Amino acid sequence: MALKIYISGEYFDKEDAKISVYDHGLLYGDGVFEGMRSYAGKVFRIKEHLVRLWESAHAICLQIPMTPDEVAKAIQQTLELNGIKDGYIRLVVTRGAGTLGLDPNLTSNPRVIIITDRITLYPKEFYDNGLEIVTASTIRNHPQALSGRIKSLNYLNNILAKLEGLKAGCVEALMLNHKGDVAECTADNIFLVKNEAVLTPPIDAGILAGITRAAVIDLAKASGRHVREMTLSRHDVYTADECFLTGSAAEIVPVVKVDNRQIGTGKPGPVTKDLLARFRRETGA
Ligand code: PMP
Repeated sequence: MALKIYISGEYFDKEDAKISVYDHGLLYGDGVFEGMRSYAGKVFRIKEHLVRLWESAHAICLQIPMTPDEVAKAIQQTLELNGIKDGYIRLVVTRGAGTLGLDPNLTSNPRVIIITDRITLYPKEFYDNGLEIVTASTIRNHPQALSGRIKSLNYLNNILAKLEGLKAGCVEALMLNHKGDVAECTADNIFLVKNEAVLTPPIDAGILAGITRAAVIDLAKASGRHVREMTLSRHDVYTADECFLTGSAAEIVPVVKVDNRQIGTGKPGPVTKDLLARFRRETGA
């Protein structure tokens, strides 16, 4: 059976789920989105995802034409219609169709799109053996040009860095910010473990306030670990005992090599493994 896609109150087969070529989401990347996970039919931290979506929309003066409750219900319904329990949810809100000019005031009918699909997890070996990543020369957007906290439909900054990673044979790439400090990866936040403490760049490093990042900080604190959101340099990464990435799709994935330097023992470390086990207990995965 074809997957059903929700677009603004209606369901379409995947092949027929289409929006206008005049939609500014397509023409200018003008819109916002969320990527979420469901475990046993329940969306992980849905409230936090919807708050972030509404904040992203507010920041770009985009009025979402539904309430958070209505969107939550539509997500649940789409999951059920497609018989998806453990899945990935892509929620997109476009600016709507307008003219060929930039002016958002000349657009109408923002589209609310819900795609639910089976999860495409990183292969098991990434979790067992850890990833190798490289630092991209493309820096994260300057926060005074575009806040990293807005999860917008324009991901070119991240895609350019991803292309650099892929060229080096890596599925993720580390991005620095305009100050040269560690920011995040192209679609994941980054954590280090040093002398038992769990370290991660602060939100004002120009990063996305990841929902998984927040969940991992909560889990680490609840398990009695010392957590610090602090400015981190590449030197801190190279000399860390452990390194891992977090994201809704990736969950928690160990990193064992950065820019050709082995991190810690070169194997996924005990704190990373413990946090992943706790995360999986919480999600029931
Ligand atoms: N940073 C960026 C740039 C992202 O796109 C994402 C989401 N894929 C993340 C971090 C992780 O955020 P979350 O845990 O909310 O998925």
